[in-house]
Amino acid sequence: MPLRASTRRAGRPRHVRSVRLSLVAALLLPGAAVAASAQTAPGAGELRAIADGIDRPAVGAVVPWSSPLEVGRARITPGAGASARMLVAEGKPVGLLLDGQATVAYRVEDRFSIPVATHNLRRASGITVDPAAGTLTVTIPVTGAAVWGWDLREAVAAPAAPAGGGLPDWLTRILDGRLDANPARDLMLAAANGDDGYRWAVFHGTRDDFLLDVDPRPVARAEHLARFMEVTRDAGPYAGRLIPEEMAAQPAGRAWWEPAAVEFLATDTDLAARNEQGEHLEVTSRTRLESLRDGLRLLTFALTDELLDPHLKLRSYRIGRLTVDGQPARYLHRTDSLLVELPRALRKGESVLLEVSVQGDVLIRPEGSNYWRLGNFAWYPRPFGGGREWSEFRIRADVAAPFVPFGPGETLERSATRESNHVATRLKGPMEGAFLLAGKYTTQRVSARDAHVDVSSYAMPKKAEAERLGNIVLAVRSCLESWTGVPYPFPDLQVIEVNDWGWGQAPPGFVFITQEAFLTPARARLDSVDDYAPSITDAEVFTRGVNERVAHEIAHGWFPHVAKVSRAEENWLSESLAEYSSAYCLQQAMGDKRQGRFFFDRQLATWNLWSSSAVEGASIYLAGHLANTEKDAASWRYLLYGRGPLAVHAIRKELVRTKGEKEGEAMFLSWLRSYVKSFTYKPAETRHLIGILNQISGQNWQPFFERHVYGPEGLKID
Ligand SMILES: [Zn+2]
Repeated sequence: MPLRASTRRAGRPRHVRSVRLSLVAALLLPGAAVAASAQTAPGAGELRAIADGIDRPAVGAVVPWSSPLEVGRARITPGAGASARMLVAEGKPVGLLLDGQATVAYRVEDRFSIPVATHNLRRASGITVDPAAGTLTVTIPVTGAAVWGWDLREAVAAPAAPAGGGLPDWLTRILDGRLDANPARDLMLAAANGDDGYRWAVFHGTRDDFLLDVDPRPVARAEHLARFMEVTRDAGPYAGRLIPEEMAAQPAGRAWWEPAAVEFLATDTDLAARNEQGEHLEVTSRTRLESLRDGLRLLTFALTDELLDPHLKLRSYRIGRLTVDGQPARYLHRTDSLLVELPRALRKGESVLLEVSVQGDVLIRPEGSNYWRLGNFAWYPRPFGGGREWSEFRIRADVAAPFVPFGPGETLERSATRESNHVATRLKGPMEGAFLLAGKYTTQRVSARDAHVDVSSYAMPKKAEAERLGNIVLAVRSCLESWTGVPYPFPDLQVIEVNDWGWGQAPPGFVFITQEAFLTPARARLDSVDDYAPSITDAEVFTRGVNERVAHEIAHGWFPHVAKVSRAEENWLSESLAEYSSAYCLQQAMGDKRQGRFFFDRQLATWNLWSSSAVEGASIYLAGHLANTEKDAASWRYLLYGRGPLAVHAIRKELVRTKGEKEGEAMFLSWLRSYVKSFTYKPAETRHLIGILNQISGQNWQPFFERHVYGPEGLKID
């Protein structure tokens, strides 16, 4: 399973258009919690002991070590005088501790991974990088290494002998500092579910220390090399802790575009959220889980266990009760991970009901605003690793007055007492990542023909602005419905103003959009005395492009909520297709053809600029595998919101060039229509998009995608 660095990236708010850039900023955001908590929770007894034993193994007998040790695509060659000892957990060999001089040679062999790794590895110290013969070889001289794995032949073959000594200081420092659920989590999953081959290794280099995660299990089939990076001092309790910064990622035993397996689904999710006072939240989730394979015994979920608040204080979020089919079950909740042990192994097609109650003071209001929002952190157990949410949701919320709660989907009932406000909603599936929000809002319904949208403005009513927004929503919705032939999945959409600047987000049933969307130029001037408005100039600048941003969020209804996207690498199918299709629809919606043309050309200029601004070596498909710098984070945006839509436009231009204006345009439209129709509420992948294009055009588009989407070659369109 990917390292924390890549799961963090994959887990960043998917539809946030303008993500905060620096790592520190990311850590300061409520919801970006990364933590290793050592506290004991009831019901977690034995699993915690097993995990601790793996994370802090005992040092066992000396193991003969003279020939190189292979760990994924790494070869560890012992130097003169190097020795090895067994690592022992639960009385079983769990790995090898290598002491003394050795050389790690790591091969980056995947041709799409090489350019990204070449870029990332410039950040690493104490290594040499040798690009030769289609393989990038990273050489790391080390003075120590440790490799975890249940089925390491070398460790298993060692004679049983008494333990000797403790872990070396360099390793203790890494294990103490690491903000990561591994090695314990994936080793426990591998053991319980009967999967072989997982390896977790750390290399003590002369400058940087490195982490190698080799995961051949069907749910991952990937390996990641990272360097450990210290969290900066201004991150409060996390200062000095270690996070992995990705250096190289490669598929294992597959091509990048081939998917990994899914082991289980959450098919029905009931969420009851209660806020009696202040920042306290209590959530009870009831989730129906269906196994897609035989022998599934241990399941993994994302579930936050602590949050960093704006004052750099930790807020804990703890499980009170957890049952499987009504019976208490063993679990382990730490480092944003929940492991649940089922009473028996499931066969394919069998299901269980997981019920979890969790609570904490986690309703943090951004900058003391009059709202809170749940969804950017795992506020209920969300299937992780080999699990997917593929769920219908029923959500109930009771919230202390005067805040009013909003849930996704159809509102079944709304009621109020003097103390609290209540809402119950139902969101048709398959959906994932439910959000919940409450605050001081004024809601206004905008209708057209048989469609409507509820627009809620923060604090005060903003009638004209809400109407303008509602009309953009309905126009883009109607354009995409007739283009794709698939109805918008959220007939009860709620557009909600967020008291912040510069982003939008479209989880199921909602469009969250920051306050500049609610500013007309006139109101921008009126509001300039407001503390939250950075300045009158900024507010006016922000107001430009708001229509495009709202349209983009509506297009997310199809990309990815209809044509599902289930892997970080495939995320461009969500962002780039939403970006392109919304720009297309806005142009269509403009009555004046010249004005529409002007608008589209302006978009094109922006896409060109962004596409050329991405760092060298970065590709649309592997944008999530860049390192952790601000430039890398910006490149992620440039690729998904710039080069991605540009690639779509290049295809359209080429179809028009080779087939003529009329047929080319028709082919282009039918390409995206077929994609949405064929993958309505199904997982879609880039290879499917290519297959449909090949079929419709009678051309071979694989080379184009290998250059510009899977690969790092830029695009420029006049
Ligand atoms: Zn988006």
